[in-house]
Amino acid sequence: MGSRQQTSPTVPHSPPFLPQPSMLPNVREEPSDEQPMSEAAAAAVSRFPRRQNWSIECTIDGIWPPNVITEQQYNCYSRHTGLMNSRNTNYALACQICGVADKARRCMCTHCNLRICIPCTDLLVANNRDLRATVRVLQEQGRVRDWSDYRNRRNDPSA
Ligand SMILES: [Zn+2]
Ligand SMILES: [Zn+2]
Repeated sequence: MGSRQQTSPTVPHSPPFLPQPSMLPNVREEPSDEQPMSEAAAAAVSRFPRRQNWSIECTIDGIWPPNVITEQQYNCYSRHTGLMNSRNTNYALACQICGVADKARRCMCTHCNLRICIPCTDLLVANNRDLRATVRVLQEQGRVRDWSDYRNRRNDPSA
């Protein structure tokens, strides 16, 4: 009787994250405006499943779709006070608010990384830096562009 050696596949039981008991008492006072890591991570993770449903293509001008505005950006704890002018030439992204896909300059919030066009920045400032209000104003005025309206390199046979 030949003993057949069957290598049973070993299934790793260890979960990807082992809960770590906090050994050290946290005595340091954290600033109250510090975002908990889990929230930011959850926001980042929640973006990905939606992204996989549609193929990401840049426009025929080489502009990439904007990131969906996250809750963290809506609730930016600095209220977007640190807006920095930035070029939009390498890996150009459409505006996160109005969706305009061009290579014009963008303003980027140094706290939440919101990346928007200059006209939207002016509107944001005019609306007391309230991102939800600014988005609502643009939607009511019909000034939000749909990404699918732009010709991209896949759906445009002439490109
Ligand atoms: Zn911000
Ligand atoms: Zn814009």
